[in-house]
Amino acid sequence: MKIWVIKIGTSILRGSKDYSTKMIIKEYCKSIIEAKKRGDKIIVVSSGAVGLGCIRLGLEQKPNDINSLQAIAAIGQGYLMSLYEEYMDKYGFNVAQILLTRSDFNSRKSHQNASMTLKKLLDWDVIPIVNENDTIADEELKYGDNDTLSALVATSVSADQLVLLTDIDKLYSSDPREDSKATPIIDVHNTKELIDSNIPTSGEFSSWGTGGIKTKLSAARIATESGIKVHLADGRDPKILHDILDGARGGTVFHPQAKTITSRKSWLAHALHPQGSLHIDFGASNALKNKGASLLLVGVKEVEGSFQSNQPVRIFDSDGIEFARGIASLSSENIINILETDSTFEKSPIVIHRDVLVLLN
Ligand code: GLU
Repeated sequence: MKIWVIKIGTSILRGSKDYSTKMIIKEYCKSIIEAKKRGDKIIVVSSGAVGLGCIRLGLEQKPNDINSLQAIAAIGQGYLMSLYEEYMDKYGFNVAQILLTRSDFNSRKSHQNASMTLKKLLDWDVIPIVNENDTIADEELKYGDNDTLSALVATSVSADQLVLLTDIDKLYSSDPREDSKATPIIDVHNTKELIDSNIPTSGEFSSWGTGGIKTKLSAARIATESGIKVHLADGRDPKILHDILDGARGGTVFHPQAKTITSRKSWLAHALHPQGSLHIDFGASNALKNKGASLLLVGVKEVEGSFQSNQPVRIFDSDGIEFARGIASLSSENIINILETDSTFEKSPIVIHRDVLVLLN
């Protein structure tokens, strides 16, 4: 038995000259059911609320203002679910809608609730269909792309494989639409290394999707760090999903890291939305990086942004590189006050306890 998370992008769901939206969803549902009958468990992360909402309203272009987008998402999300429901029902399976916002993952408790609900649905053989709650989420609260969301969902249920279905067949060294010398990258063993290399990541695949190569790489990094294999594949021909679920590989495969991090660390590193930053000195960075220490106030050089106690923050070392994240036990105001009034400590207060601190790879 394998747990799969399948992310389907808007550009595919809007259909093409070969496949209408309905045909695509029908074919995907068929492949998912075949895999379920072999004993696998599957979560779908489906985009398309805005893209299908525009189709329903006869709009040829996506509006730009947030209020229209939120209202369109309300129309499209219902339609999207009705299609999944219709086809899954034909095969005798139930679907469940899960709409998440970034703030739902900001507390460990609601993150665990989402994870437990997903697992319960999988136990009941229901197919969860997840999307970002676009009708509620504003820019501040949004992931904005379902690539990141799909990786967080995959880590929250300890999935085995994540499939990112999009409108490009694999990763290339440069944009193949513009550069005839672009070479394919079919296996990635270190996503971080690839992100740090010069691979162009700015391009979007189509005007309808919100992600692009950058968000796919970042999703792959989150998932592989938690031991999940990631396939990037061209989903415009829906048969690809059937083949991948049956053991074939996507155009680019991101292999799981040898050294994985726990679900809690992954949540700290990727799901939380940092509210501020702490810049710390060399000694403190060294103690955090190499000695498994907590961050003491004596090591803090500078505080950026405004945060309350128990809110997540970024941690920068003396070279200005963000190397860790954690949950501050003191507010920014408190830290600044103590630093300004009392610079000699008999026993320095803990600013971030080790248990809620994660080093970024
Ligand atoms: N949540 C958005 C939607 O359903 C799509 C996000 C994405 O394209 O990644 O329209």
